[in-house]
Amino acid sequence: MDATLKEQICNLISDEYKKLKQSSKPVIRSNGKKEWTVLASIVKWDNKTNETRILSLSTGVKALPDETLQRSSGKMVHDCHAEILAIRGFNSVILQHMGFLKEGKSSDLIEEKEGKYTWKENNKLVLYISRMPCGDASMDSLEESEDTNENFQIADDADQQYINDDIKTTIRGRLNFSKKGIVRTKPGRIDSNITLSKSCSDKLCVKQLSSILNSLTFGLFNEPVYLDYLLIPMLKESDLRGLKRCFTTRLVCHNNEGKESDDFPLHPFVIESTDQCFIDDKKSAAEDPSAMSSVKLYFSSSDTIEQAILNGVRNGFYTKGNKRLRKNCEAIVSRYFQWTLFQTLFPSHEKSYLAHKAAQKARNELISKARVRLSPDGWIHTLPDDCVL
Ligand SMILES: [Zn+2]
Repeated sequence: MDATLKEQICNLISDEYKKLKQSSKPVIRSNGKKEWTVLASIVKWDNKTNETRILSLSTGVKALPDETLQRSSGKMVHDCHAEILAIRGFNSVILQHMGFLKEGKSSDLIEEKEGKYTWKENNKLVLYISRMPCGDASMDSLEESEDTNENFQIADDADQQYINDDIKTTIRGRLNFSKKGIVRTKPGRIDSNITLSKSCSDKLCVKQLSSILNSLTFGLFNEPVYLDYLLIPMLKESDLRGLKRCFTTRLVCHNNEGKESDDFPLHPFVIESTDQCFIDDKKSAAEDPSAMSSVKLYFSSSDTIEQAILNGVRNGFYTKGNKRLRKNCEAIVSRYFQWTLFQTLFPSHEKSYLAHKAAQKARNELISKARVRLSPDGWIHTLPDDCVL
């Protein structure tokens, strides 16, 4: 990717971030403390015309504790880290474009032939993230940074780092950060209720095999759609080392002859850096992470929808404790919203979201392969979060 193109993409994202509503962004709190967040975006680049267009833009650094999923019924977004929201947003855009084609409108992303969809091959996909993804990829730079909190420095065999004592290949958050190449849950305060959501490093890693299509869109395509580029500002040597280990070394399997295994179809991202920084990035340890997340979908350059998300639901719709969730609390990237849209477009499928997900054999097989490689001792699952319409 040449420097001009990178600049074009970064300017596009930065301009669109500035246009987000003030209520979607970090604020300066009444005590004067400045908040920070992470920005992510999926941009398509047409490699024939060199045109670029944003498909989804998102901000966020929060994940819900696992126990909150009990009342979700697909309406709460468990993982609101920006890059995960951007990918969820991409899938909402894809479903919407399938709807456009059904209405006889055109799509700049996909084509339909005999009931299956094909990604337009000139469209390359770039995932921009304003910071290194949490989890394994960022452990090298964490080790070198001033952020290194002694709370994370524990004995190599300390039990508190494990969620399940039988699974030593998955660690809680940033604990024992010098241990490399393993699965981690989303970082969080050690005294907070645990989230079992996996780090962005691990989730992105799996998507190099399973693609960025989700359980609803995957089966509708002739071929999966993969991310081509990962674009992150100001990458240092330690970042590049972490990214290489996280996204390549720990996944590559060699067979008995020392050759790469054929049944592990890895689609590695090309890693790119830029010197353009994000204006609301964390600039000092005194700043606090913003509780607000946001997502904006771009069905076209002029047809967009934006929502702020707080505690996993649309801002203004949250109810405390175990109370029932409010009507219309679900965000445009939630399971419930996507499942509703999917059922409207393709009504003949399974009636429950999780039943449909379980039936996606080809995708599930790819995910299982990746998980075995990433955490050989076993995979720690989050609570089931189903929805039936
Ligand atoms: Zn993350």
